[in-house]
Amino acid sequence: MFDPFTGRYAFACPVRGETHVLLSAFRSIEQLPGAAHPAVFRVRFDCACGTEHDGLVTHDDLDWAPLGLAAGEFLNLMTARLDPVAAELGELAVGHIRRGAWPWTFFCYPEEQPRPVFPSSFTLLTATEGTVGLAVRCPSCRRLSLNLVSHPHVDVPFHNDREIGVVEHMFAEDAPTTLDAFRAELWSSSFDARRLALE
Ligand SMILES: [Zn+2]
Ligand SMILES: [Zn+2]
Repeated sequence: MFDPFTGRYAFACPVRGETHVLLSAFRSIEQLPGAAHPAVFRVRFDCACGTEHDGLVTHDDLDWAPLGLAAGEFLNLMTARLDPVAAELGELAVGHIRRGAWPWTFFCYPEEQPRPVFPSSFTLLTATEGTVGLAVRCPSCRRLSLNLVSHPHVDVPFHNDREIGVVEHMFAEDAPTTLDAFRAELWSSSFDARRLALE
């Protein structure tokens, strides 16, 4: 499902048979109700064939596989410990985190601070040549923030932009829920640069 050597997720494509996409090619990520162990997410992704398709990805593949963690391992963000068993690559990820580097970060606008995050908290994504727009549901305060980041910020774990763009808008009931509304909101907004250093 996830290939750690290319950093790409494999999905079925009706035209090409199989396609391999980076996280930044995802357009929406939505947890399916019901399936909890493991949680399953429906993703919409932008395919190299020129259209968008839907695919399913497990929580393990979405959040842990890019860190080199095998299915069933769980990285506790509070203690930076692997539960239940640490794999070799997983230990590498833990080492990064102990040194204060997080695999993914975003800037929570309601809380006015950077936060560590996992891809399962990305709800909507859009991308241009050099930029990825992200709608992130904050794991801490549960509110929505819109960030503008680089492709590696999303696609390469532990690569964090020093500065990112933040939409200065507090979303409540008016949070964009569709990809079209999200894109319209994002590209019509003014951005403010925020430093992402988590220390
Ligand atoms: Zn396709
Ligand atoms: Zn927050």
